[in-house]
Amino acid sequence: MIIPFNKVYNTGKEEEYLLEAYRSGRHCGNHTFCQKVISLMKKKHGFNEVFLVPSGTAALEMGAVLAGIQPGDEVILPSYTFSSTVNAVILFGAIPVFCEIEKETMNIDASKIEALITPKTKMILPIDYAGVSCDIDTIMEIAGSHNLIVMQDCAQSYGSYYKGKACGTQAHLAAFSFHETKNFSAGEGGALVVNKKEWIQRAHFTQEKGTDRSLVLKGVKSKYSWVDKGSSYLLSDILASVLYAQLSEEDKMKAIRSRITNAYFDLFSDYQKAGKLSIFKIPDEVEINHHAFWVIFDSIENAELFMAGLREKNIYAYIGYMPLHSAPKGLEYGYKKEDLPLTEDLGNKIVRLPFYTELGENGLEYCVEEMRKQLKRIYE
Ligand SMILES: *Cc1c(COP(=O)(O)O)cnc(C)c1O
Repeated sequence: MIIPFNKVYNTGKEEEYLLEAYRSGRHCGNHTFCQKVISLMKKKHGFNEVFLVPSGTAALEMGAVLAGIQPGDEVILPSYTFSSTVNAVILFGAIPVFCEIEKETMNIDASKIEALITPKTKMILPIDYAGVSCDIDTIMEIAGSHNLIVMQDCAQSYGSYYKGKACGTQAHLAAFSFHETKNFSAGEGGALVVNKKEWIQRAHFTQEKGTDRSLVLKGVKSKYSWVDKGSSYLLSDILASVLYAQLSEEDKMKAIRSRITNAYFDLFSDYQKAGKLSIFKIPDEVEINHHAFWVIFDSIENAELFMAGLREKNIYAYIGYMPLHSAPKGLEYGYKKEDLPLTEDLGNKIVRLPFYTELGENGLEYCVEEMRKQLKRIYE
């Protein structure tokens, strides 16, 4: 049996919708399936305004445009994230200011943000690692008192909740990803949620190459023209059709994925109690979408032993992000490894376990048994 790290789930409706979208002859953005996805997202999770875009990366970039990120602006973000998070703002000349993370969630440590704020700070850009919401209320409070914008990188947290509210409903801007490695896949795809009402009209212009085409589609105008800066931030209706099939089965997929979280918690909790390793903690106010599971080993050697042992059994677990501040591009901004010791240390010892919907239906017991054997071999 082969247990890959990730695999796309097939709900059974994808092919039918895909053909329907193709045969409709309307393949560009904001057509029938895009509208269906947008209504579904708003109804299910209460998002204010949703823009479907080609990727999570594009969602972050479009957010940076709306926020008016300028050369010299400082943006506070965790170093423990994907390159897209930081690229979205440095593309417009911003300077990244990396903040430490907290051990329990690997998310930005909100208690360390305020010390990093300067007169140049424009935005706070937290992420929800492994689908666990960052401490968004505290972050919004800090932002409010310093007049800063918050864009939440929700690439991994579609369907997660914080204090009963869906991730992506609290920050000014929230970026989702529907890449094939995420819970719900369009192949490539994403969404930008705009919660600041004053930005919604502009967001339509930005998404449509800086034109007011949205007003023509609404029947308000007969011709569209160039009214603002923008780009092509549109998801094809063909891909939206696949996404619609996936999002329509959210509850079912979430239930299947929860089995994986539970099985992994059962296995690793004893070792955590014995002080051998640590696993993530779900804060009381957070409900997770069962995106991923990670373990921090007591040493790099043991993390590698664990992964190598599994690999021999065709089970694929991987390391996490290489911290951005100590990556080649991060060093160009004057950072040194030692600047964020906790990020550096945890980033070295983290292992992410195989996690995909189908695993909850097939292969989970085998996978957990093999992991149990590896842990015994390493620690007993
Ligand atoms: C996946 C991911 C992205 C990028 O999303 P794409 O859809 O692949 O562009 C950005 N940030 C984080 C935290 C991610 O996990």
